[in-house]
Amino acid sequence: MKPIVAVVGRPNVGKSTLFNKIAGQRIAIVEDTPGITRDRIYADAEWNGREFTLIDTGGIEPSGGDVILSQMREQASLAIDMADVILFMVNVRDGMTAADSEVAAMLQKCGKPVLLVCNKVDNPGSPPMAMYEFYNLGMGDPYPVSSTHGLGLGDLLDEVVAYFPPAQTEEDEEDVIRVAVVGKPNAGKSSLVNRILGENRVIVSEVAGTTRDAIDSVYEKDGQKYVFIDTAGMRKRGKIDENVERYSVVRALSAVDRADVCLIMIDAQQGITEQDSKIAGYVHEQGKAAIVVVNKWDLVEKETNTMKNFRNHVKEGLNFMMYAPSVYISALTGQRVDSLFEMIHQVREQNRRRISTGVLNDVINEAIAMVQPPSDKGKRLKIYYATQAGVCPPTFVLFVNQADLAHYSYVRYLENQLRGKFGFEGTPIKFIVREKK
Ligand code: GDP
Ligand code: GDP
Repeated sequence: MKPIVAVVGRPNVGKSTLFNKIAGQRIAIVEDTPGITRDRIYADAEWNGREFTLIDTGGIEPSGGDVILSQMREQASLAIDMADVILFMVNVRDGMTAADSEVAAMLQKCGKPVLLVCNKVDNPGSPPMAMYEFYNLGMGDPYPVSSTHGLGLGDLLDEVVAYFPPAQTEEDEEDVIRVAVVGKPNAGKSSLVNRILGENRVIVSEVAGTTRDAIDSVYEKDGQKYVFIDTAGMRKRGKIDENVERYSVVRALSAVDRADVCLIMIDAQQGITEQDSKIAGYVHEQGKAAIVVVNKWDLVEKETNTMKNFRNHVKEGLNFMMYAPSVYISALTGQRVDSLFEMIHQVREQNRRRISTGVLNDVINEAIAMVQPPSDKGKRLKIYYATQAGVCPPTFVLFVNQADLAHYSYVRYLENQLRGKFGFEGTPIKFIVREKK
């Protein structure tokens, strides 16, 4: 589980500027929910070899009253709920405001590490006197930074990383399959996890700090150990906080990162929605084994072709994931829940499958003989040979004469040929095209 760092502060103090400086690349999954004013609110970042997720809380819409104050309160409560370290940002140009003091008081009570970041100190050699005013917040030394110029960020991040829990060493992982159950709220994720784990629920790690963090539980069946990464439970405690709900996708994403196999839960009554395909898209991009689990099948009126039709609907709605098998269950009645384990096993095996170079090249050569590689301006693509560079997902390198001749559609054709020969059910496969001079 990557630690979460949240940035809180008044509008215009420079939160998104800081965010963009620190974050290498924002995760391009956008929430459906109206009300997120900034479309990208979290990003993966790294400092000194420690990875973390950065959240920009600036996207929260105020719920009325004093707009700025209520917005800040909501930001702060979100950060308190979700973050491991909170950056409270003020701005030396505007000085200290009443809203700053109130929110500072709120953050101080939460018991989590909060760092006071004083932005727009563009000349760190001689910080303006106004910076000292912020000692009145009672949050200790402000960290002077200039987000636009990237000054002071190194010191700040050193301090942030020092607060992270020690990195988990991933030992005896070999014989464990980590399964993340992801999907929209109310798809039935907790119902499924509870159904499987029942009273045998053994919590192995509850990430310190908040009650909202994901919970890992171990389950053993037929000699195989499974760790269920449960992101569902986090919403269930106390009242549903809308903002936390919106940001809960961050948790789902980090659950995917840690998983070997992802169960993408679909509500049978709703079919595949935009949000489902975003979640599935992320699973795909991360190269994880996937099973589409269509839940609440007990509520569906069945006729002869109902399942077949739904299967087509899944293939269409998640057309980038044709390889994923789908299973029709009821977490409520337990129907077909047992069959999941066999599938989890299979897709896991496919995800880490290795094909020997000889066999691989036989298949590629056969494919080339059947459909000639494309050519452009009189020059034809030549594929010299292929080799498997990695697993999880299976990744193949094609050595070619000229990379730009390897059109997507032809690589796609090769993928289909490989799938036809080897299956690879439930796992994406990747190709890397490399020129060999
Ligand atoms: P947010 O609303 O808190 O996300 O603030 P923004 O990141 O959008 O920044 C608000 C304004 O402050 C923008 O015009 C930024 O260019 C400017 N700004 C942000 N950081 C700095 C800084 O370190 N120095 C100066 N001089 N301007 C900054
Ligand atoms: P989560 O938000 O994805 O964890 O969803 P929950 O497990 O909390 O389920 C949401 C609602 O759907 C609850 O009222 C469940 O009782 C109901 N539910 C879950 N699975 C099924 C199912 O297979 N059949 C029916 N009829 N209801 C279900």
